[in-house]
Amino acid sequence: MKFELKDRDASGRIGKLYTPHGTITTPSLLPVINPNKIAVSPKEMKKQFDIEMVITNSYIISKHKGLKEKALDSGVHGLLDFNGPIMTDSGTFQSYIYGSINMEPLEIIKFQKEIGVDIGTILDVFGTPNQTKTEAEQGMKETIKRAKISVLYKGEMGIALPVQGSIYPELRFACAQQLSKLDADLFPIGGVVPLMENQRYTDLVKVILASKKGLDPGKPVHLFGAGHPLIFPLAVALGCDLFDSSAYIKYAQEDRLIFSNGTQHLKDLEELSCCCPICSSYHINELKKSEKIQRTKLIAEHNLYISMVEIKKIRNAIRVGKLWELVEQKASENPQLYNALSVLGKKEEQEYLEKHEPVYKKKAIFYTGPHTINRPQLYRMNQRLQQWYQLAHDTIIVFPESTKPYHVTYEQEITAIYRRNPNVDILINSSLGPVPIFLDEMYPFAQSEFPEFIDQATIKHNKQVFNHLTKGKKVLYWDGKKTLELLKQEKKGMTQLDMDIKRIQNVATMQFGRNTDKILFKGKKSLVKSKKTRKIRNVYCDDDHIVSMRASDGMFTLKLAGGIRLHAHVPFPRFRVVVQNDAVPFIKDGKSVFAKFVKGGDIQLRPYDECIIVDQQDQLLGVGRCLLTVDEMIAFSFGQAVKVREHISD
Ligand SMILES: [Zn+2]
Repeated sequence: MKFELKDRDASGRIGKLYTPHGTITTPSLLPVINPNKIAVSPKEMKKQFDIEMVITNSYIISKHKGLKEKALDSGVHGLLDFNGPIMTDSGTFQSYIYGSINMEPLEIIKFQKEIGVDIGTILDVFGTPNQTKTEAEQGMKETIKRAKISVLYKGEMGIALPVQGSIYPELRFACAQQLSKLDADLFPIGGVVPLMENQRYTDLVKVILASKKGLDPGKPVHLFGAGHPLIFPLAVALGCDLFDSSAYIKYAQEDRLIFSNGTQHLKDLEELSCCCPICSSYHINELKKSEKIQRTKLIAEHNLYISMVEIKKIRNAIRVGKLWELVEQKASENPQLYNALSVLGKKEEQEYLEKHEPVYKKKAIFYTGPHTINRPQLYRMNQRLQQWYQLAHDTIIVFPESTKPYHVTYEQEITAIYRRNPNVDILINSSLGPVPIFLDEMYPFAQSEFPEFIDQATIKHNKQVFNHLTKGKKVLYWDGKKTLELLKQEKKGMTQLDMDIKRIQNVATMQFGRNTDKILFKGKKSLVKSKKTRKIRNVYCDDDHIVSMRASDGMFTLKLAGGIRLHAHVPFPRFRVVVQNDAVPFIKDGKSVFAKFVKGGDIQLRPYDECIIVDQQDQLLGVGRCLLTVDEMIAFSFGQAVKVREHISD
């Protein structure tokens, strides 16, 4: 089975999962089909709700004479009358519900293979949240033991190996690492239903993160038993790709309607506020008075519709870089979910999430509340401000927040300051935090919308960054002429050209690291600027085109001449993506770098970072933009890893 990454945001991804019965787009929802009692048929689901894949239970099929015979005779696809991909569970959940089941681990693998499922699941040991660590560890070890034997019998079938380990992050991590060494096609995160039933979302977040940290990044991850849309955006943002829902039918049987932020009982509703095909064609009284069987089917359809709309919303949010907004909005609708977001503010988790966070996005960052400042791209921004960036001078002049771009709003003041004295730094005290004036067009400083009044935690956070940045410096808050008078008149002021040079140096430092500006922009500099917007477009040094600046986010794209400079002056492996030697002719021919050809590279490279492409002898081949992290490039066997911009030809 193949899995390919197509788009990404946060640690979430849009992928293509290729199965023998068709390709599905992830994140995806797999409705649970009870083969004994099919309320909405998989065929209808596909036609009406764009459902691409379903999940059913191989244990239930194997224990029912009629179902078993039909499945063995016409395959699971014949049994469910569905020609799309089918995944099966193995009876693990039944053993959790009933205490134990009569089934051997290998017996259920062989049965799943015999009935032709696309992805079968091993019989793992369900770890419950109330287990002691010793009990959880025993269950986890048994799961790994069974996984090791089961993969030997998978044959052509895709196999899912669930991560267990109860609520103990170290066990989840260890289990994930062990399972990742095996020939698996999918990794479900198991044993989480009791956490979700009791809205223990903080524990759920810890479990997902610990599992993801240990898992092979090149394989899809399934959050087992997560069927309520409330949890979907957060789970996707943390890296889950698949969900399964029995909630749509279970709730329908109890006359409960799923909504994006919770569930409501039919009897508590006086109007149907939803615009799905069911709610728009039935009056609520009709629905209330309809026969039980019909009502269940109608509510199940509504539930499926709502769930699929949420999945599509998430995929759209990923495409435009708005997944964190969706996560935070959803959390504001449920206090337990809101609490769970606090986990993401912990340094350890921010470090992990930052690795997968794209370096720029199509859309601006919108503030939604106190959790916004914890987003990985803002964590990165502040880390780079404190570790890479350095204010050059001892005197800092601070301006209050204003209309963006700041350097245009404060143009007269800035010109007056720099004419008098070029040896000062200028900061804007913005709601996002301190913004050095020459970074004011760069992502995310310019591409962010924060309200005038922000929460106390963000104010405190911004103050810390400000204090760190200006430590030991003389800070002057702009007060018109008084401030100018305080500045010592220097002989030579700064011209517009100097300010442009400052801007390219500042942006290079924030984008590539300290001192990279000296490497990239050595020699006689000349700039091409847009006549209309006055923005910098291209940077030349000694007539070589080094970088271009993207108008949308003020970041650089690396040209070949820039790559040659970085390659010559920055030691291996920084900025490199190393491709195996037999892929070299393809790169020289202008093709993209595919993940299966990548041997290694710089683990500091982030998604959408600029990079240089080299062969195994560190010979430069070209420059481009990373679509994956280097760990992902190594893990994935399919899809593009680097989009090549310019290459060296023979
Ligand atoms: Zn509806």
